Amino acid sequence: MSILPSTQPITTIGVHAYPDAQDVVEDVYAEVVRRNPGEVEFHQAVHEVLSSLVLALERYPDLRHERILERLCEPERQIIFRVTWEDDRGQVHVNRGFRVEFNSALGPYKGGLRFHPSVYLGIIKFLGFEQIFKNALTGLGMGGAKGGSDFDPKGKSDREVMRFCQSFMTELYRHIGEHTDVPAGDIGVGTREIGYLFGQYKRLTNRYESGVLTGKGVDWGGSLVRTEATGYGLVYFVEEMLKMRGESLEGKTCVVSGAGNVAIYTIEKVHQLGGKVVACSDSDGVVFDEQGIDVPLLKQLKEVERRRLKDYTQYRPQAKYTPKGNIWKIPCDVAFPCATQNEISGEDAATLVRNGCRVVAEGANMPTTPEGVRIFQEAGVLYAPGKAANAGGVATSGLEMSQNASREQWDFETVDQKLRKIMQNIHYQVYTTAEAFGVPGNYVHGANIAGFLRVARAMLAMGLAG
Ligand code: NAP
Repeated sequence: MSILPSTQPITTIGVHAYPDAQDVVEDVYAEVVRRNPGEVEFHQAVHEVLSSLVLALERYPDLRHERILERLCEPERQIIFRVTWEDDRGQVHVNRGFRVEFNSALGPYKGGLRFHPSVYLGIIKFLGFEQIFKNALTGLGMGGAKGGSDFDPKGKSDREVMRFCQSFMTELYRHIGEHTDVPAGDIGVGTREIGYLFGQYKRLTNRYESGVLTGKGVDWGGSLVRTEATGYGLVYFVEEMLKMRGESLEGKTCVVSGAGNVAIYTIEKVHQLGGKVVACSDSDGVVFDEQGIDVPLLKQLKEVERRRLKDYTQYRPQAKYTPKGNIWKIPCDVAFPCATQNEISGEDAATLVRNGCRVVAEGANMPTTPEGVRIFQEAGVLYAPGKAANAGGVATSGLEMSQNASREQWDFETVDQKLRKIMQNIHYQVYTTAEAFGVPGNYVHGANIAGFLRVARAMLAMGLAG
């Protein structure tokens, strides 16, 4: 199977002196660490991708000559700005805003905004870097970016969130646009925040530019299924993985970490497909509900009333809430980490394996530590990395952009079918690429190499401007 099109021969062994691919990758990684001190999450994300790309470099040595890896690891543009805003008591606050425009070889920069107190440049860069490959895997025309702020929306009034979003957009608007850079939501940024951001963009530019942000409300340019997309897409991906083994989700016991956007719609889709999710969590604790998590109740608590997960047991007395509990100790067939990065340690992975977990699919970005990934792979767990398994969100953002461009609104079934097809295609690409590169069943290598080759081809075609 040829990955690169035959019209574009790039293999020139013997023309360029070609150092050992492993050495090349190690040199590139050492340089990334040197140039980006202290950004440990970014180092981790780069390390994981580069580890797979040894195989690609061995097959296509010219990529080395064109310095594709070095170019990929250096963002095209990084914007850091001050966000000053006033709370309801008239107190002034200063936060830091970020937008890292990583790679635009495949289309306008695309990637979410995260509002969380842990945000700093290293987190935004890891997310932006991952986004390049994820967006490539969708097959749509989207570059990679990410942004956000160390602002914490938790406990803030709607008016405070609005004032923060307006101040954030007052700087960001000059860097974005439907053909330039299209942000969306992520942790702490949902439809409410996108509404405030879009309103301020419209006011500043005097343009109703629907395609400048995705995740909009369905009444004002949003796409049906965008809210559900990441969770639904994740479960569609798992369906495909299980199908390869002649299995399905029917009757499987699952746990889903988090209780936010990705977690809620993962749980909903698992239940629709006959599985049972018995636990979910937030940063304060874990809910265990043996009869299966009550999704309408969860939506009411988290999406409507914006309450904490511990209140779940007020309405489901048979459920058990454990403050600061560890969700990965609960036995399951399938685990869906859907909260945040590095939430599954090596010890957690070993516990999951010991308790019989056979499938792990990442709704969150990089939720498993490198040690955890190693343990899953050695134990033969079907392990789906986030950049493939959670790509349904950004893919549906791409569908939202298409609808905005043509001023159409597709019905729920149409978008859902397109999402399912995209997830099936991503699974096929990842699976077949892993086979073609001699690592069958390794979804990490398959996803990294397949995403990388699409971006690399575009960068090569554009010369040193790519
Ligand atoms: P969200 O709606 O804000 O929900 C995040 C959930 O994770 C909340 O329950 C939150 O609990 C929990 N959480 C966040 N940070 C945590 C931490 N440090 N420790 C423990 N729990 C934590 O965000 P989301 O959109 O669902 O995103 C979840 C993950 O999916 C992120 O990794 C994100 O990058 C990834 N993702 C999202 C999308 C998307 O379309 N939204 C697409 C692809 C990937 P608290 O309420 O207690 O903070």
